[in-house]
Amino acid sequence: MRVYNFSAGPSMLPLPVLEKVQKALLNYDNTGMSVMEMSHRSKPYEAINAKAEDLLRELMGISSQYAVIFVQGGASTQFEAIPLNISKSKKADYVVTGIFSEKAYKEVQKFTSAKVIASSKDKNFSYIPKIEKSVITPDADYMHICYNNTIVGTRFRSPVDTGDIPLVADMSSMILSEEVDVSKFGVIYAGAQKNLAPAGVTIVIVKRELAENPSPQCPTMLKWKTQIEQNSLYNTPPAFSTYVAMEVMQWLKELGGVKAIQKINEEKANMLYDFIDNSKFYNNGVEKEFRSLMNVPFVSPSADLDDTFVKEAGKNGLLTLKGHRLVGGMRASIYNAMPVDGVKSLIEFMKKFENDN
Ligand SMILES: *Cc1c(COP(=O)(O)O)cnc(C)c1O
Repeated sequence: MRVYNFSAGPSMLPLPVLEKVQKALLNYDNTGMSVMEMSHRSKPYEAINAKAEDLLRELMGISSQYAVIFVQGGASTQFEAIPLNISKSKKADYVVTGIFSEKAYKEVQKFTSAKVIASSKDKNFSYIPKIEKSVITPDADYMHICYNNTIVGTRFRSPVDTGDIPLVADMSSMILSEEVDVSKFGVIYAGAQKNLAPAGVTIVIVKRELAENPSPQCPTMLKWKTQIEQNSLYNTPPAFSTYVAMEVMQWLKELGGVKAIQKINEEKANMLYDFIDNSKFYNNGVEKEFRSLMNVPFVSPSADLDDTFVKEAGKNGLLTLKGHRLVGGMRASIYNAMPVDGVKSLIEFMKKFENDN
C-alpha cells in the first residue's frame, strides 16, 4: 500500500512517474539496460541529459543568457561553490531566514567576507525581513537568500530588488512549485530531492557572466564553468536522478506546467492553513503573508500530544509528520507530488485527533 509521505526530503514522487520508471527499469527505451547501467557518453543518456535541460528551461522560462547545469553534492555543496565561483570583490551579503541560510552563511566565511544584512532570528524565523536598499553592500559580489525555508515554513513572496547586485537563491524546497521570474536572479540552485527527483542531482541555473571568473582556488568539481563547458558531463553524472528529474518535469509539463501546479499547491496550502487557523487546538506561528506553500509546521497544545499525533498519524497511512528536531511539533511537507487527497486525509485525521483529545 502506498502511504501519504509528508517528509521534507527526500519526499514523494508522482505515482505516474514511479510507474513509468519502474517499467523502464530493466529496459529503457529498447536499449536492453536501465539508465543506472548506461554510459553517460551514450546517445540515449545524452538525450536524457539534453531533454532534462530543455524541459527545465521551458518550465521556468530560462533564457539563453543563463546556463543550466546538473551537478552533484546537494545544495549544501553550493553553499561553498557560490563564493568560489563569484569572487570579484570577495564581499557578499547574506539574508538569514532559517537553518539552511544560516548554514550557507557559515560556509561562505571561509572564502569571502560575508555580512548578514537582514535576519529574522529575533522571532524564531517566523517571518521574512524587509530588506532596505541602504543595507546592501554597494560592491558586494552577490546577495544570498533562501527562497523557501524548509524547516521553519516561510517563503519570500518575490525576489529582492538588489539593483545591480546579483541575487543568489537557494530554491531547493520550492523549485517548480510556483512561478518565479528567473531574470531577476543571478543564480538559482536546488537539490532535487524535495520537488524533483531522488537525491543525487543538484540544479544550478547561473547567468553566464557570473560563471566566468571563478576564484583560482575553486576546485574543478565545484567550478560551474567546468560543467557548463562540458554539458554537465565533465565526470560521471548522477544519471538516474537526472533521468527521474526529466520524467518528473515531463509529468509537470503534461499537467499544465508551473502555473497549473501553483494553483494546486495554493489550494492544498490554503486548505491546511485555513483548517489550522480555525482550530483552537492546532497552531502555526508563521506570519500569514510569509507562509510557505510547501512546508507547513504546526503544533498541538503539548509536546506529549505532538508525539502521540505523529504516532497515530503513522498508523493511518500519514507518514513523516514529525517536525524538524530543531523546531519540534509537526511539519507537513506538501510538495508538487503530494495529491490534494493527501492533504484532505491529513485534515480529516487532524479533526479526529482533536476530537479524541
Ligand atoms: C534540503 C535543503 C538543503 C540541503 O540540501 P542537500 O541537497 O541535502 O545538501 C539546502 N537548502 C534548502 C532550502 C533545503 O531545503
